Amino acid sequence: MNASATRRSIVCLTFDFDAISGWIARGMTSPGPISRGEFGPHVGVPRILELLKRYDIPTSWYIPGHTLETYPDASHRVADAGHEIGHHGWTHRPPALLTRDEEEEELVRASEAIRALTGRAPRGYRSPSWDLSAHSVDLLLAHGFIYDSSMMGDDYMPYRVRKGDVISLQQPAVFGPETSLVEMPISWTLDDFPHFEFIRTPTVIAPGNMNANNVLQNWIDDFIYLNENLDWGVITYTFHPFVIGRGHRMIILEKLIRRLKEANAVFMTVEDAAAEYLTRAPAPGG
Ligand SMILES: [Zn+2]
Repeated sequence: MNASATRRSIVCLTFDFDAISGWIARGMTSPGPISRGEFGPHVGVPRILELLKRYDIPTSWYIPGHTLETYPDASHRVADAGHEIGHHGWTHRPPALLTRDEEEEELVRASEAIRALTGRAPRGYRSPSWDLSAHSVDLLLAHGFIYDSSMMGDDYMPYRVRKGDVISLQQPAVFGPETSLVEMPISWTLDDFPHFEFIRTPTVIAPGNMNANNVLQNWIDDFIYLNENLDWGVITYTFHPFVIGRGHRMIILEKLIRRLKEANAVFMTVEDAAAEYLTRAPAPGG
């Protein structure tokens, strides 16, 4: 049997269903940004769910508690379609900006909201704005999480999360031990938000609004590299319903799905991909 016959290229399509929570966390509560966020539950989610159903693709949705409790009907539609529901904070504030107690309160409160929706606690966590705190790993392990999906230390290979790194300006870094928490790595380049969203604040202008087909080509090529160079690996794409849900971007999402299916991609939830990694992975520190 040659290598290509055993090759297994796993694709995780993930959706961060922030709705209006991301703008609120940045202090943007006026009608303009709120309307921008509500495009997600009102327009993006139904379009995305229809597309995923048509291609029969299981996916993972990271839904902040604020969205779960503000848009229960849209959240129910996602869960009822069989997609994984992961943790994405209660507010959309990154843990690195919270105290340990605030972070744990958010963890518990949003887990309860997810349990109320699905009947089970979330197994996976994705931090808002992809920035964990010094306490996140301990809290996630204490609260029973199997995996995190917020870091960028690899592209196609899950890995064990370290804790207790000592990082300072004037000394070489001292890395802590691996834990049992699995990292399912992400990347800004495989995220729709920075390519497409125009943002203007007093200090920042992010132009966004890239040509969607150029972005699509990058997304396809990252899969092709995986498929041609690794016998086993996982590529995780991140979308937001209010970003990818616009017409020309829905067209590239469908093109992406078709192209990856042609190349024999195996579509899975992140939870299932993490479980498959654990069947192949050495023990922490091994
Ligand atoms: Zn988010």
